[in-house]
Amino acid sequence: MPSGTEKNHSPEQDGEMRDLHSLTRGELAELLSSLGQPSFRAKQVWDWVWSKNAQSFDEMTNLPKSLRDELAGRLTLGGVEEVARQVSVDGSRKYLLRFPDGVSVECVGMPSRGKLSVCVSTQAGCAMGCAFCATGGAGLTRSLSASEIYEQVMHVRDDFNARVTSVVFMGQGEPFMNYDATLAAMRRLNDPEGAGIGARHLTVSTCGVIPQIMRFANEPEQFTLAISLHSAVQRTRNTLMPGVRKYSLINLYNVMGEYVAKTGRRPTYEYALIGGVNDTESELQALCDFCEGTLAHVNLIQLNEVEGSKLRPSTDLRAQDFVRRLAAVGVEATVRNSRGSDIDAACGQLKQRLARS
Ligand code: SAH
Ligand code: SF4
Repeated sequence: MPSGTEKNHSPEQDGEMRDLHSLTRGELAELLSSLGQPSFRAKQVWDWVWSKNAQSFDEMTNLPKSLRDELAGRLTLGGVEEVARQVSVDGSRKYLLRFPDGVSVECVGMPSRGKLSVCVSTQAGCAMGCAFCATGGAGLTRSLSASEIYEQVMHVRDDFNARVTSVVFMGQGEPFMNYDATLAAMRRLNDPEGAGIGARHLTVSTCGVIPQIMRFANEPEQFTLAISLHSAVQRTRNTLMPGVRKYSLINLYNVMGEYVAKTGRRPTYEYALIGGVNDTESELQALCDFCEGTLAHVNLIQLNEVEGSKLRPSTDLRAQDFVRRLAAVGVEATVRNSRGSDIDAACGQLKQRLARS
């Protein structure tokens, strides 16, 4: 952190300036106090950053001009830049946002009946390599920081000029390969001094990184968990999701049992129906066996086709078979509509096409 006491020492000489978003509340308070500011300033600045999403120090109009200048000389302020957007016929908006180091990610805003749901990325790219996913095809560029995840939500909020009612961590990347930053972002989104979104309305989706599922079960907040299952047959899952090969289905089953016992919350299993691959009779039976007698909700999604992939969605009739058969063993399942599929914003289609066009 820049020192407040050394004179004749410009921040540039200290190397790169720190971004205000990277400061903890304590560090901010310390900085302001070293600048001779009264203690309420920390709350004011915090509010501008995390609640009002200020884009410049000059916006912080309840701070003295001299303090704004002082801060601007010592710290940067965010700097996520929208480089492209697409708007879907269903009202969804997909954004390509670029961070100061040139790395870009996508996020999506999905309005419906007075609600606004946001889908955020936790990494630029993804290392897990799922066969059906556009993000997985490109590999991992880097993980995002907590504030880079948070800023996506605020960008969408400000663009729609509406309160965000829920956030799903289902954009690019595997949240549990970037656990600390993801959790810190969730906490800020939940914090009444941040975005104030209820914990149950914050849903993290993982391809099944088992050690982190247990960690997540022990977090005190009532966050929601979704597991990308996609097959309850080990061989099929290994092919579809090579990145989680080492975490076998039996271990996933057991850890989810512990998760439910610990939290009492119902997890969602995501299942993208792929014609002839995971929609066969034996696959359906295996899925029923996996879920029967457990607390579970199954989200069936017709596979969103990905450029260059041979995988195709199932038929709608087959999706209805899945719903019926799961219901027969007491498991609730829904067929989820894809939002924004006309703009490639649907699950698994987030990739950097916008950057190329
Ligand atoms: N990495 C995390 C979260 C991001 S992916 C995860 O895998 O859970 C968000 C969701 O989209 C996951 O359920 C993922 O399996 C699903 N998905 C990926 N590609 C898809 C596709 N082509 N069609 C439908 N769903 C897809
Ligand atoms: Fe990564 Fe999730 Fe895509 Fe798999 S489905 S490659 S884990 S983003």
